[in-house]
Order: sequence, then C-alpha cells, then structure tokens
Amino acid sequence: MIAMFEKVLFPTDFSECNLKILDYLSELKKIGVEEVVLIRVINLNRVTGIAGGIDIEEYIETEQKVAEEKLSELVEFLKIEGINAKYIDPIPAGNPVVEILKAAEKEKVSLILMGSRGKGVVKEILLGSVSEGVVRKAKVPVIVVKFELVEKEDGYECRRLFPKMFERILYAHDLSEHSDKVLKYVKYAAIKVNGEVIILHVSEDDNIQKLEQIKRELESDGIKTKIIVKKGSPHKMILKVAEEEKSTIIFMGSRGLGLIQAVLVGSVVDTVVRHSRIPVFVYKGE
Ligand code: AMP
Repeated sequence: MIAMFEKVLFPTDFSECNLKILDYLSELKKIGVEEVVLIRVINLNRVTGIAGGIDIEEYIETEQKVAEEKLSELVEFLKIEGINAKYIDPIPAGNPVVEILKAAEKEKVSLILMGSRGKGVVKEILLGSVSEGVVRKAKVPVIVVKFELVEKEDGYECRRLFPKMFERILYAHDLSEHSDKVLKYVKYAAIKVNGEVIILHVSEDDNIQKLEQIKRELESDGIKTKIIVKKGSPHKMILKVAEEEKSTIIFMGSRGLGLIQAVLVGSVVDTVVRHSRIPVFVYKGE
C-alpha cells in the first residue's frame, strides 16, 4: 500500500487551538505521517488593516525573531516525538493563504493540516478565513481540524470532541467522480487505525448501487462499513448525520469551484468546514 500522508504542511499561528492539533500526533503517525513542515506567515493583511505609521520592515523583523524561536521549539518537540521536522525559512511575510499554498507546492507535501478559528461570519468576510482560502485553492488534500471552544473563568479552552480523529469516518459521497477519488484516502486511514466508515449520500433518488460497490470494497479490506441515504440539503444532512453517528471526521471531495461559482451555487465543502464540530478532510481534484 503506497504511503499517502508522509509529508505534511502544518501552518501555525501559534494559537492555542492550532497547537492543540499536535494532540493528534500519535494517530497521525499511525496513518503514516513521517515529516512535518511548519510554516508561520507574518500576516501583512492584518498589518495593512492596522492604523498607519508603523515601520513594516521593523515589524517583520521583530515578528520573524519571535516566530523563529517558537518554530524551533516546535521542531524540537516533533523530533523528540520521532517525527522529522523543519520550518519554512526565511519566515515569509505576506498573505497567509498565498504563502501556505506556495510552500505546499515547493515542499511537495502530501497533506495540509490546519486549524480554523471559527470566527463569526462578518469578521470572516472582513479579514478572510485562512483555512477557507487554503481549502479552496490547495492542490493536495487538506484536513481542517475543528475544536470546541469551552468557556472557562479566564477565557476559553480548545477541546477535542473525540480523542481520536479517524476512528469513525463519515464519507460524504455525492455519486460524482470527485467523491470516488476520496475512497483511497478513506480506505487507507481506516485500515491504518482500524476505523469504521459510514458512507453518506444525500439525494432525492436512491440509486445507490455505486455505494454498495464501495461498501463491498471496504469490507473486503476488513473495514466495518454502513451506508446511509438521506433526503434534504447536503450540507445540513452531512452535519446532522455526523452528530447522530458520533463521527470523528468527515471526508469529502471538492468540485474545485472558483470563488464566484462557490458563492453563487453555494459550496457544500465551505459550509461543512465552517460549521463542523469535528475535523474535515477535503480532497482536491487533480
Ligand atoms: P482561519 O480561522 O480560517 O483563518 O484559519 C486558521 C488557521 O489558519 C490556523 O489554525 C493556522 O493553521 C492557519 N493560519 C492562520 N494564520 C496563519 C499565519 N499567520 N501563519 C500560518 N498559518 C496561519
């Protein structure tokens, strides 16, 4: 079986929820992650949003020093955990989405693993969501890891809804070829962690022969599989079934719509990524 998740790009903003992703490290190792490339981008979108009068060069230099220190610590931590690690150096300054995509291509990573701040819709439009931008434009699969924000006395804590990521996979299949291409990833992850799979199809017709074929294929590899067919709005049903079935991750294929198209027809992936309480794996077509 060919390794699929060997080299991972991990964009970090050093936030609590982002670093919490490393709690999944032992499971990520199980699915074959061997090398992590960290990237921190000094977000110049944000700087231009701040009132004028700051010296950009000086700002970048200061931020680079801070980032270098934190990234070196993370590299050390990962190495102690038995993972090959490095960070993108020099630390890029610019638009995080652009720099993350550039690094993914240059480093030829097999997966991008990132967090999501889960901001309110208005702020998202104003500042731009990094995870949505990356999911939309990446050429390799992306996992957006979601956490629960639990209120505490002194702020918030990021909590995983489930301790494991690949234990119960919800494989959203729309009978398209894009969805078919996700199968090899679903199968690979499920075999590696001995996980279960639910194939979910939301549609008005129930022509599910193709899904039965996929179920047989997964079962022949020893993966416990069931099919659920629902009527209704795809994104709503995907989120609902994920809750009902206590899924630990959602796997989906992206049609790769452009921004305008996605806004016009409504991208199921965007909506699921935004509202999901569990991680979402998005496969991008070749
Ligand atoms: P979002 O909440 O959609 O903007 O996505 C947040 C996630 O994007 C974080 O968990 C990081 O993975 C990534 N990210 C955001 N800002 C940066 C940054 N300046 N440098 C690197 N990664 C970033």
